[in-house]
Amino acid sequence: MSPPVIDVRELKTHIVTRWGTIKAVDGVSFTVAEGETLGLVGESGSGKSMTCLSILRLVPRPAARIVGGQVLLDGDDLLTQSERQMQRIRGKRVAMILQDPMSSLNPVFSIGMQVREPLVSYHGLSGKALARRAVELLAAVGISSPAARLRAYPHQLSGGMRQRVVGAMAISAPPRLLIADEPTTSLDLTIQAQYLRLLKDLQERHRLAMIFVTHNLGIVAKMCDRVAVMYAGRIVEAGPVEMIFGAPRHPYTRALLESVPRLGAQTEWLTAIEGQPPDLAALPPGCAFAPRCAHAMERCRAEEPSEFSLGAGHTSRCWLDRPA
Ligand code: SF4
Repeated sequence: MSPPVIDVRELKTHIVTRWGTIKAVDGVSFTVAEGETLGLVGESGSGKSMTCLSILRLVPRPAARIVGGQVLLDGDDLLTQSERQMQRIRGKRVAMILQDPMSSLNPVFSIGMQVREPLVSYHGLSGKALARRAVELLAAVGISSPAARLRAYPHQLSGGMRQRVVGAMAISAPPRLLIADEPTTSLDLTIQAQYLRLLKDLQERHRLAMIFVTHNLGIVAKMCDRVAVMYAGRIVEAGPVEMIFGAPRHPYTRALLESVPRLGAQTEWLTAIEGQPPDLAALPPGCAFAPRCAHAMERCRAEEPSEFSLGAGHTSRCWLDRPA
């Protein structure tokens, strides 16, 4: 088996606030191989986006700090690189697509200037080769009349078109790892499906390792090979997509899946997860999910569960899964 493209080990990112230290990412570990997609799922504030920002060392400083762990990209630990080295790694070896394309596009520069910029800095292209490659990239993400679109400004394109431009910029290197953080949330439903297909095509063509962050479990089922479910800054269950959907073990994963509305289901009310996500600055002792868990036992409130292996790459952090 080929070594993973990205190997995150015991990653910890803390945020210091006046109310206390928030363990936004608290010992997260996972790997993603070439051509594989890992889905990171969980409620808002579970640590999904902060994990991705930590990989790129783009956490909001000075409040947030990466305080431990390793992020190995093809064996190189990104946490020990200089800022200068990281500037070359971002965009070239690791690219990120954000929820709102306007966060990645500068409204005062034309699309052409922004698409050409990484081609100049990473590939040293110029003249006709540069112009040709910029057109090719827009065409590769399905933008019609690409030469004309290069002269447009971001506000002159639709949301779906802007997200495609961001996709074109993300694959310009192409990178080894693509992080897509809720990339379809701001798109219309019809455009969402097209964009997901496009991401999958790009991934297959370039054998990208992909981390796909979303709270939409339907998208996870379509896009991902493996899933990591996050709660309170930790991965509480992880495994192949068919196991997480077919035989979920952790009570939080089961609650997440039950809260998804099903077409044709004869229910009067949608199932909601009782209670609120915990205050990360004042986590209860033991299992962080205990205050919301219908199966909580005395031990759950006193001792934090370790990660138990369920076989075939399936793991769970729940005392119920402790081997006998
Ligand atoms: Fe529920 Fe206990 Fe499992 Fe936590 S460890 S999810 S409280 S059963």
